[in-house]
Amino acid sequence: MTETVTNWAGNITYTAKELHRPHSLDALGALVAGGSAVRVLGSGHSFNEIAEPGADGVLLSIAALPPVIDVDTTARTVRVSGGVRYAELARAVDAQGLALPNMASLPHISVAGSVATGTHGSGVGNGSLASAVREVELVTADGSTLTVGRGDERFDGAVTSLGALGVVTALTLDLEPSYRVEQHLFTELPLAGLDFETVAAAAYSVSLFTDWREPGFRQVWLKRRTDQPLPDFPWAVPATEKLHPVPGMPAVNCTEQFGVPGPWHERLPHFRAEFVPSSGAELQSEYLLPRACALDALHAVDAIRATVAPVLQTCEVRTVAADAQWLSPAYGRDTVALHFTWIEDTAAVLPVVRRVEEALDGFDARPHWGKVFTVPAGVLRSRYPRLGDFRALARELDPAGKFSNAFVRDVLGETAS
Ligand SMILES: Cc1cc2nc3c(=O)[nH]c(=O)nc-3n(C[C@H](O)[C@H](O)[C@H](O)COP(=O)(O)OP(=O)(O)OC[C@H]3O[C@@H](n4cnc5c(N)ncnc54)[C@H](O)[C@@H]3O)c2cc1C
Repeated sequence: MTETVTNWAGNITYTAKELHRPHSLDALGALVAGGSAVRVLGSGHSFNEIAEPGADGVLLSIAALPPVIDVDTTARTVRVSGGVRYAELARAVDAQGLALPNMASLPHISVAGSVATGTHGSGVGNGSLASAVREVELVTADGSTLTVGRGDERFDGAVTSLGALGVVTALTLDLEPSYRVEQHLFTELPLAGLDFETVAAAAYSVSLFTDWREPGFRQVWLKRRTDQPLPDFPWAVPATEKLHPVPGMPAVNCTEQFGVPGPWHERLPHFRAEFVPSSGAELQSEYLLPRACALDALHAVDAIRATVAPVLQTCEVRTVAADAQWLSPAYGRDTVALHFTWIEDTAAVLPVVRRVEEALDGFDARPHWGKVFTVPAGVLRSRYPRLGDFRALARELDPAGKFSNAFVRDVLGETAS
């Protein structure tokens, strides 16, 4: 490539021989049909080599395709092009009096890239962002188009697909009537005696933050829908100032707090669309495990907090409702997600990532597909009961493995020996 292309965090530089930004679906189809190794780059917010096509491959960005956001107010759905980011989608949907059920911590990410990796927000009743998808439109390996909707037996493999089935050009999502949300922040929630189930269910979306320098949580973010009751939250201390989840970062980057009601899309993400999300200089890891194990898993991390804290900026604990996508980290089980925002020093962080994975080993933890992890592929495969079905679907739609890369071949157990 003549230009240097990196992911958002800057820890991955893509080595592809070519980068293309087609302006039409016809041009996209021709590029796919003529290529032998193709990966799509969304908004580049993943922290690992999931999007890397390899030195002989082609990196395709669909950001230059004409953006489509077609809201159907009668059916309460939206058809959106894959490269559109949630911030733009949310504004368009809200303008029609409708809403998405949930959002991730930031609205800067593309829709197709987010659902491909199982990206999620929080809430015991809220599935991952892929749960809102009812139809996916793909350009497959021969350049032809394929639509897979709910009810198709391939659907549960087609949304959280790691980009391995084809180029997702558009998705249709379920919507609901627009709603308003308030954020209520608390500090000093102890780990000792924590009733995790009650705390996690205290509001529509709940996040706990700790830097593991002390046991317990420095911050609790309750996101209450104004059409639901105001929670009584006696376990922690109400915040007295606006907070950023990373200690020392300016709260101005964060969505409005102190119970000020606002549109769903300006409260469910932690970070405002017009500011840099999180700290900007970081790596991230996340592990999703059965929610029933939450307390034991938190104590397991607490036991190694002296190792974790020196390379950690913040750790966030969220919940995700079970879904049916074969490769979703929340597949088949109500989930707790333990997220780590690390410092941006890969060499210092990786040994600690391994320690965290050892600590969580007994909990059947599934790493977030878009973040840093070292869990061996063979172990990963054992944690996804439908992985074989996904592999068969990938080979059906893409017999030559055009949309595979080293990351996907490893996960699927197709690495040449
Ligand atoms: C600051 C920050 C905060 C984050 N917060 C959260 C969070 O709250 N919750 C959470 O779960 N995750 C979070 N993430 C992780 C992020 O949501 C995922 O990495 C997600 O995949 C990003 O989407 P993207 O468009 O940038 O994907 P990319 O990183 O560009 O790509 C991810 C995968 O999707 C594939 N892909 C992308 N577009 C297409 C397409 N059109 N067709 C086919 N395949 C495609 C790529 O090939 C690749 O395999 C965060 C990341 C950052 C940097």
